[in-house]
Amino acid sequence: MKKIRVRFAPSPTGYLHVGSLRTVLYDYLFAKHNGGDFILRIEDTDKARYVEGSIENLVKILDFMGLEYSEGVFVDKDNKTFQKGDFGPYIQSERLDIYKKYIDELIKNDYAYYCFCSQERLGEMRKNQQLQKLAPMYDGKCRGLGKDEIQKLLDEKTPYVIRLKVSKEGFTEFDDLIYGKIKIENKTIDDQVLMKSDGFPTYHLASVVDDHLMEISHVTRAEEWLPSTPKHILLYKAFGWEIPQFAHFTLLLNPDKSKLSKRQGDVAVEDYLNKGYLKEALLNFVLLLGWNPKTEEEIFSLAEMIERFDLSGVNKTGAIFNTEKLDWLNGMYIRKMDVSELTKLCVPYLIEANLIEEKDTRYKIQDTNELIDFEYLKRVIALEQERMKKLSEIGESVKFIFSDKLDYEKELLIWKKMTAEDAKNNLQLIFDELSSFEENDFQSEKLQEVLNNLVEKNSLKRGEVLWPLRVALTGLKGSPGPFEVAEVLGKEKVLRRIKEGIVKI
Ligand code: GLU
Repeated sequence: MKKIRVRFAPSPTGYLHVGSLRTVLYDYLFAKHNGGDFILRIEDTDKARYVEGSIENLVKILDFMGLEYSEGVFVDKDNKTFQKGDFGPYIQSERLDIYKKYIDELIKNDYAYYCFCSQERLGEMRKNQQLQKLAPMYDGKCRGLGKDEIQKLLDEKTPYVIRLKVSKEGFTEFDDLIYGKIKIENKTIDDQVLMKSDGFPTYHLASVVDDHLMEISHVTRAEEWLPSTPKHILLYKAFGWEIPQFAHFTLLLNPDKSKLSKRQGDVAVEDYLNKGYLKEALLNFVLLLGWNPKTEEEIFSLAEMIERFDLSGVNKTGAIFNTEKLDWLNGMYIRKMDVSELTKLCVPYLIEANLIEEKDTRYKIQDTNELIDFEYLKRVIALEQERMKKLSEIGESVKFIFSDKLDYEKELLIWKKMTAEDAKNNLQLIFDELSSFEENDFQSEKLQEVLNNLVEKNSLKRGEVLWPLRVALTGLKGSPGPFEVAEVLGKEKVLRRIKEGIVKI
């Protein structure tokens, strides 16, 4: 059997769209699941869309996401691109001679032709077609130009493009591995431009030539290329090449079913990473956007994805990009993380929120100038690990730990139907009880035991004691429990905050 070879072929336009992340994940999983080769090819033949530095950026993101490939374009330690593999170059702008050779072959064999039509003429033609409600399509004016005429126009340096000469009879058919049989009337296929007036190939020519020369067995890509595939098949036939298998992946949609695009908000993978989504959660999320594991399972590591992924689980209908699901998944991954690892990821957000700054091997709390170490930060992060959905929330949610003075309304200290007087008295009771505590006894279990006894001894309700305490310690409506918070704050701060609460009421 032929070796399975799959490529991801992005255009370097400056960022990686989350839809492309899904495409590259599926490409990768399909290749790995089948023990095939995975290749990164850069399709940079559209000079107008090229963005400086985007190849490096793209390679780094794929590397960060753990989507390894064995051939194609890589980046070294000095941020320089290099290429590896037997089928290079893997950057299309370095393959112009190759495309030229194949274009000449097509022209020679009458599968392609020179078109000298001006932009104005093509614009007029399109306008007329629109008026008549016809699909936009080249009208074939230059199909019949004679050799001499062509030579004359070439000698006069008239700008030209090269078009595919589609024989308008019959049908073009293929089996898409996701969509099944596709059959198109050839008369609906446009005489596609294969080479532009700047001498660069179009995507269509370059991708067919490269997929053939790079021995790609399965062309896996986004659904937006499905309508182009019949043209590609005609090209394979014109060259007399074996036609690869095709699999097209559905579009990602906004909740209103419109195409997920930059205009509606963030679509770049980088944006999601910056917002504090974990790469594992993002991969897991895009995996499930369009692939059905056929079980209730929802959490998949990359290794599990490789083991389980197959094209038969890929859906035919567009997948809604539902960020609530992403938040949920991210929370699941955060909870599963080792707290040291999680803390490392949270530190930049704490610094950005201006809560702490790095000081040699330790950290300085901005508000109080105290020095703390990584171990202490771990205890702070552990407080929120269960509740956190995004790393970027951490600054806001643990701000109370690092603040010198909490800012809250005194009414918040009062639980349900208690009076202000009750709240004050209860805080005083807690204060007296905890004052005699050794610093070492400031552990959540111990605190819990002592405060539960205090509740019983004074015939109070738990909320009448724990609510005012929790608010005095955090200044928040919602927070981790008072015992855990007290343990992290330590005796001195706890007593000070309780006192401040008492004074406030
Ligand atoms: N360069 C195309 C893109 O960025 C690739 C399409 C394909 O995989 O054939 O969408």
